[in-house]
Amino acid sequence: FSGRRRPLKLLTRRVWERIVRRGDIVVDATCGNGYDTLAMVKMVADEPGSGCVYGFDIQENALENTSFLLDHSLSDHEKKLVKLYGICHSRMEEVIPSGALLRLVAFNLGYLPGGDKAIITTSKTTLQALEVAEKLLAPGGLISLVVYVGHPRGREEFETVQEFASGLSVENWVCCKFEMLNRPLAPVLVFLFKS
Ligand code: SAM
Repeated sequence: FSGRRRPLKLLTRRVWERIVRRGDIVVDATCGNGYDTLAMVKMVADEPGSGCVYGFDIQENALENTSFLLDHSLSDHEKKLVKLYGICHSRMEEVIPSGALLRLVAFNLGYLPGGDKAIITTSKTTLQALEVAEKLLAPGGLISLVVYVGHPRGREEFETVQEFASGLSVENWVCCKFEMLNRPLAPVLVFLFKS
């Protein structure tokens, strides 16, 4: 990854690509500007119409940005695979059909790039969303988090994520984190693999 401008993003996508298959159901828990949502649609899109991406964001302008990006980047068939909701990710169970098993639930925590920096993810709702994701994840699935530790609330949120991950059973979960040793303020990647 040396020489790459965004090594963490690249690493995250590479991990997703090893897990997600065509036809899968996945969740972007924090759509933001839609770049991750777009990447997920490309991973699950299949003929003739299976595969689904559920996207969540509490900010209207984030969902507008995501819709704009998807509208300009996807085929008509791919667009039909995306369902966007302007609700907190802790409420994902309200809209995902019961019995649906998720291959990937991805969180990119923090604030909307280019948006209001005061509107950020919180430890409380992130933990609630993780508890729902744990339940809905398919065996062989992944919960992926990018956690920004460079500010006090982000550090607190990272500790909440870390405590949640440390409590998952050794029999069913492989939980790991990826930190940049020479950039202590860079986001930490957390990957929770369900067996
Ligand atoms: N992955 C996005 C991308 O590719 O552009 C960036 C995500 S951005 C770092 C974090 C997003 O999480 C913001 O758009 C913010 O509005 C959203 N967010 C904050 N709290 C949330 C919550 N409780 N539920 C869902 N989204 C939330």
